[in-house]
Amino acid sequence: MTRIGIISDIHGNLPALEAVLSALNAEGAETVIFCGDLVGYGPWPGEVIARMQGSSIGVQGNHDAAACGALPTNHFTPAARAAIDWIRSRLSAADIAYLSSLPLTREMEGMTVVHGSPRGPLWEYILDPWTAAESLSLLSTDINLFGHSHIQGGFVADGEKVEPIDPRAGTIELVPGLRYLINPGSVGQPRDGDPRAAYAILDLKQGTIAYHRISYDISAVQREIIRVGLPRELADRLSVGR
Ligand code: ZN
Repeated sequence: MTRIGIISDIHGNLPALEAVLSALNAEGAETVIFCGDLVGYGPWPGEVIARMQGSSIGVQGNHDAAACGALPTNHFTPAARAAIDWIRSRLSAADIAYLSSLPLTREMEGMTVVHGSPRGPLWEYILDPWTAAESLSLLSTDINLFGHSHIQGGFVADGEKVEPIDPRAGTIELVPGLRYLINPGSVGQPRDGDPRAAYAILDLKQGTIAYHRISYDISAVQREIIRVGLPRELADRLSVGR
């Protein structure tokens, strides 16, 4: 396993997921790791689970935990809560069992995978170098994958300071001795101002992480969100990537 597709925050957006998975296939990714939130917000929760189950490995996000009843939704926004209620009515018992089976953190190939942060896998956002430094102090691995913020990039630490990674640099060399927190961005609901689906490719042989974006049919997803009766704001935000 040398070329690994890294994805996160798919949120029931099947067209975005399909676009990313075909791009990963074309780029020669041998496996896919996801950093949580397969469901929530989007209109294809069962279809996304079916597409990911068995062909990828990952962790549970806060929306996955809420959808399987492991996390209360009182801290969710009204739109997010409405979506969880709708999703619960759509998922099969097998879907619920799969979401329940996902671990909160996973260590593999010398990497740690988590949704939010090691301190708060289901709630904490790593948005600044201070939280990134605190998170790295709780991790024993040098390459760490996270999501939750829906912001592509992450952080790199050299032992003295922690700095954000600019994903617009494209491919970044992973320097031995430095420590990384890598966020592939969100497949299904980006919030960094770029509405295109986000993903990353980790090449363990070359020692690189490559950040990518890919267009998909946003208006088809917006029409489906409206058609199934999910809150309109969940459709609107996809156009602006916020
Ligand atoms: Zn999310």
